[in-house]
Amino acid sequence: MTQTSEQSSFRPSPDNRPMPLAAARARIVDAITPLARTEHVALSDALHRVLAETVISSIDVPGAANSSMDGFGFAAADAPADGACLAIVGQSLAGHPFAGTLGAGECIRIMTGAVVPPGVDTVVMQENTHEDDGQVVIDTVPTPGSNVRPAGEDLARGDTVLRAGHYLRPADIAVLASVGKPQVEIHARPRVAFFSTGDELRPIDGPIAPGQIYDSNRYGLAAMLSELGMEGINMGVVGDSPDALRAAFAEAAERADAIVTSGGVSVGAADFVLDILGEQGEVDFWRVAIKPGKPLAFGTIRKARFFGLPGNPVSTAVTFLQLVRPALVRMAGGTPATPTRFYLPTRTDLDKRPGRENFLRARIDMAADTPEVCAIDHQGSGVMRSMSASDCFIVLPADQGPVAAGERVCVEPFAQSVWAVPGD
Ligand code: AMP
Ligand code: MG
Repeated sequence: MTQTSEQSSFRPSPDNRPMPLAAARARIVDAITPLARTEHVALSDALHRVLAETVISSIDVPGAANSSMDGFGFAAADAPADGACLAIVGQSLAGHPFAGTLGAGECIRIMTGAVVPPGVDTVVMQENTHEDDGQVVIDTVPTPGSNVRPAGEDLARGDTVLRAGHYLRPADIAVLASVGKPQVEIHARPRVAFFSTGDELRPIDGPIAPGQIYDSNRYGLAAMLSELGMEGINMGVVGDSPDALRAAFAEAAERADAIVTSGGVSVGAADFVLDILGEQGEVDFWRVAIKPGKPLAFGTIRKARFFGLPGNPVSTAVTFLQLVRPALVRMAGGTPATPTRFYLPTRTDLDKRPGRENFLRARIDMAADTPEVCAIDHQGSGVMRSMSASDCFIVLPADQGPVAAGERVCVEPFAQSVWAVPGD
């Protein structure tokens, strides 16, 4: 390991207490302004992007009343009771409406999606009828109005289809297509520069000597950024040297909207991230009361938001998911979703000391007779396998002590919506 000539000068002041996670998240999200840059793209390229315009429907969807069944359309007044018999005078197929006019005692054959013509107010499904010599006998008369979808049932002309800030999922793309919207204005992806810090880190395609480790965090960060739809700028590894960090911070602030680093943010002799952040920009806060992941620095360098994450791989992942991800969602023009959480009994006793909010890695067992959650055996913050073998966090509040098997604990699944669906 390279010997550094300068030593970290940052020392926490007595009142610099680790911030509770919820307060840290709120503070970070509040500090973020959505990016103003937008792009105009084909609807088919807009999946998993954030809408930057409010879309109003210029049409009714559907445009005309239509049938929701294959069957026969008639006026309810003409079929007062089961066994009513009507003359078939034509048909309406999807894309081929019935052009004529219905008289008393008449009906048309009508298919799903076909326009319901004037004079028809009810459709009976084919299965409840039988045909007899050019006539149809309605074995079971449906209630008047049955199986007719009114014009504008889904969206009426002038309705808001989706508002700016809506994160586009497959259903949203389909809704926009249903109102004939071939192009949309979307928010640009935030540019996120990221790099690892540490003299012990080596590239993953070469040998390592004792005391060296592969730079796994950068791959994990790249993957989390990519999963979130961010434009990652991979800046490699930066050594534990103030000058190298200065240069990297300056370049990152030039190129990116946000900067995410791992390592060097504690108070060790080779931890300079906080000092250089303070020197080149501003430290908003440092340290969050969570385990793993306490040392975390949030701040600003020029126009870029800075997230200095701790280097232990599980800490890097937990702090990214809990604090950086909601910030980037907001920067991308979206609204961070409130985390999905629910309660399940724990299969095992859980160690916990009051103090920090804990994020234990665990697996949900929904197949058990009584669903439960099972913590991974090794919870070390350097044991990335504990994340990889898990599908959820057990979230234990700061003031919580040890938990006995069978007690219900708060569970936060890894797979969850991170983009809120805005209500009306
Ligand atoms: P630090 O936060 O720099 O004190 O690092 C804490 C621990 O995380 C140390 O054991 C580091 O070797 C390890 N670590 C730091 N950066 C990385 C990285 N990019 N990939 C894997 N482990 C790392
Ligand atoms: Mg380090």
